[in-house]
Amino acid sequence: MAEMIFTRKYAAGEVIFRAGEMGRDAYLIERGRVRVTLPRTTTHSGQAGGDEVVIAELGPGEIFGEMSMIDDAPRSATVTAVEDTEAIVILRARFLRPLQTGNPLMNLVMRVVLSRFRNAQFRLVGATGGPSGSSLEEIRALALDRLQHEKAMRHGLEADEFEMHYQPIIDLATGRIAGFESLMRWRRGGPGGEMVSPGLFIPLAEETGLIVDLGRLALRHGLRDRNRFARAFAEAGQDQAEPFISVNVSGLQLAELDEIGEIAAIISQSETDPAVVKLEITETLMVQNIAHATEALKQLKGLGLSIAIDDFGTGYSSLSYLHQLPLDTLKIDRAFITNMDKSDNSRRVVHSVVQLAHALGIEMVAEGIEEPVQLAALRDLGCHYGQGYHMSRPLPVDAVLELIASRPHW
Ligand code: C2E
Ligand code: CA
Ligand code: CA
Repeated sequence: MAEMIFTRKYAAGEVIFRAGEMGRDAYLIERGRVRVTLPRTTTHSGQAGGDEVVIAELGPGEIFGEMSMIDDAPRSATVTAVEDTEAIVILRARFLRPLQTGNPLMNLVMRVVLSRFRNAQFRLVGATGGPSGSSLEEIRALALDRLQHEKAMRHGLEADEFEMHYQPIIDLATGRIAGFESLMRWRRGGPGGEMVSPGLFIPLAEETGLIVDLGRLALRHGLRDRNRFARAFAEAGQDQAEPFISVNVSGLQLAELDEIGEIAAIISQSETDPAVVKLEITETLMVQNIAHATEALKQLKGLGLSIAIDDFGTGYSSLSYLHQLPLDTLKIDRAFITNMDKSDNSRRVVHSVVQLAHALGIEMVAEGIEEPVQLAALRDLGCHYGQGYHMSRPLPVDAVLELIASRPHW
């Protein structure tokens, strides 16, 4: 994106903007001085206009015009250059983007503070009522919703409302189940409650730090249930290798290396061989801090676990980090598989990733196989593993046990 910072020059006496104009940008003074004045809109004699109150004189390093930028209301003050002045223009879009995409609570607090400040300023100069913060109610509703969600999630953790579902991962050479990916579900409000999808609650869990507790729960349940699945395979008389369990881990869970000790403890308590435990971490979270990620992965590998890179191809893909990280598995994103039979490019990407995986000596999983043609094409390419609705959706434990008993193959 083009650099959105530029400067503007104003001669002494020049009006930079007037109260009442729609505001777009804020200014950071580099050189010179400006005077900020408020119009005294209603005087005691009832006459309008004319009269102005100086509320500030600002110099280098100070900012003005920031209020209209946030709350979409007209400029509440007039700003005039006192001396020849040079100011950096901070464009509204640049400023608002992180606020809009960020935490709604922060957004709300910011707007409330602003609207109180504006109202106080208006009272100061004797005007009746400042502008009400536009869309303030909307943001208030969002923030409230978020707080209620967080509260419900904390409650849900205590009330045991989170459960794991499991999606079989198929060995494409034999057509048999090789392992399972554990996927979290939230039955909000307990048994009989609505099922909330992880796409909705994982981001909030990451924001609030609850992901650490949820991540431990996912691993604990995943290991326990994998051991049940292993017994079920034996009972079904299926002589196959121990099924592996692939558990999603948020990069934020690994922000503190201490968490690796917790992971080790959970594995040893479950009496599971770490060799059948795979952790799935998304590409984006790894490349954000490659040095930290490398260290964390090394320590995890030291426990005997294997590591899969999830959603491969969707993030800021960089081949340069691939060989730096101790990876065992690449999971190519569903988007490529979905488009394989429609687009030559997608097919070529999948083909190259299979070759890349072979060249690096790591395994590859194709996600999101929905059609028999996709399964056949992936087999032809020599892809190791596959998962998707065509074989099975993620299932609760009992349904997995039934599936195993039916000795399926695809
Ligand atoms: P993911 O790790 O990429 O998981 C795969 C998602 O694709 C799952 O969605 C799965 O149900 C879905 N899927 C599998 N096969 C197909 C298919 O053939 N077609 C289609 N359309 N979808 C398919 P789900 O269960 O809703 O999970 C969404 C995301 O939530 C996961 O994406 C993962 O990023 C996150 N998540 C789920 N469980 C956990 C967890 O325990 N911990 C963490 N940190 N994240 C989790
Ligand atoms: Ca995953
Ligand atoms: Ca994925």
